[in-house]
Amino acid sequence: MSGVFLTLNAGSSSIKFAVFASDGPTTEALLQGNVAGIGSAPAFSAKASSGGAVQNTPFPPLSKDTNHEAVIEMLLPWLETHLDGQPVVAVGHRVVHGGQYFTAPTLVADDVMERLEELAPLAPLHQPHNIAAIRAVAKWHPDTPQIACFDTSFHRSQSRLNEIFALPRELSDQGVIRYGFHGLSYDFIASSLPKHLGDKADGKVIVAHLGNGSSMCAMTDRKSRASTMGFTALDGLMMGQRCGDLDPGVLLYLMQSQGMTPDEIETLLYKKSGLLGVSGVTNDMQILETSDDPNAQEAVDLFCYRAATNLAALIPSIGGLDALVFTAGIGENSALIRAKICAHLTWLGVSLDPAANHEHATVISAADSAIPTLVIPTNEEAIVARACRAHLTNS
Ligand code: AMP
Repeated sequence: MSGVFLTLNAGSSSIKFAVFASDGPTTEALLQGNVAGIGSAPAFSAKASSGGAVQNTPFPPLSKDTNHEAVIEMLLPWLETHLDGQPVVAVGHRVVHGGQYFTAPTLVADDVMERLEELAPLAPLHQPHNIAAIRAVAKWHPDTPQIACFDTSFHRSQSRLNEIFALPRELSDQGVIRYGFHGLSYDFIASSLPKHLGDKADGKVIVAHLGNGSSMCAMTDRKSRASTMGFTALDGLMMGQRCGDLDPGVLLYLMQSQGMTPDEIETLLYKKSGLLGVSGVTNDMQILETSDDPNAQEAVDLFCYRAATNLAALIPSIGGLDALVFTAGIGENSALIRAKICAHLTWLGVSLDPAANHEHATVISAADSAIPTLVIPTNEEAIVARACRAHLTNS
């Protein structure tokens, strides 16, 4: 049956949505938008495929007390009035953690929900919102198939050496391993590489997904071989509010000497660290870049330095580097951050063309750079829409 796919991406402080024609391209949404700033200053925005404003009913008023559940309860009926009477034939969700259970998009059923609940403590900022969105849709359209698309699935091609920690093996056996995240974004970039890199697409490529959450993925054959995020989405690069790599001894010190509770430590690591914690100003890179506060500058410099050291640490997993790709909010839009990261990588043969970088061209490396360096916009929604289509085709 033809109609529309709806994709939902419930993040820590936002809910993104997109509507696709079920028989149309999955790279172009008919309608898409988001409610950002949930918990602080929520704001709704949406645009139609024509690029024009979205007409019909206005979105209900939002206040700082409007939580994720309330936003989704407002969003679904609002969407209904913007579908021109077309049936919703499938709803796809970005779900952050699929653990060891889910290696591919999965039709949601009761046993799947139980697994998602079980994994919620591993992604406390995201998974509960993903689950709430699935439940809200089940209430809205009980008979519509819902497809869960996992950020962890893309990384299940990693070798055991990349997965296990140097901890007693009983813990690895219990699933305390490195999972990796941002898999929908990496999946999209992997599918775009042949267009941009030709023969090199299947070579040794590192993709830097730099946004409020940031990570990197090393690929060969367009499959994940290693990534900077681990058991949770706290590991690896410094992020907007998350700390990234941290000596675990710091946690012991905070508990034993500072008397911090697990909840306080969770808030510190997930919400008060990263660019926000180091700058003391904001987690917003665009603001930090133009700030003359020395703490803001130090936060920006640390972000770039840590990005370069994390990138270098990925290289042994793929035995070299043929191309580097930047994506996501910072990776796609910040010439300064790309330049600062690449300045730490000149020893590798990375050399940017400053004008191309400034213009956010697709290829930003200089003609004589040993490592082609690209900017490719990511599109997680397209991957979720493709999973909806695959489900309907195969069912
Ligand atoms: P994302 O999580 O992928 O939406 O990325 C959000 C991050 O991208 C925020 O830190 C923004 O400040 C940053 N960002 C977006 N546009 C720009 C820009 N033009 N320059 C610098 N940072 C940007």
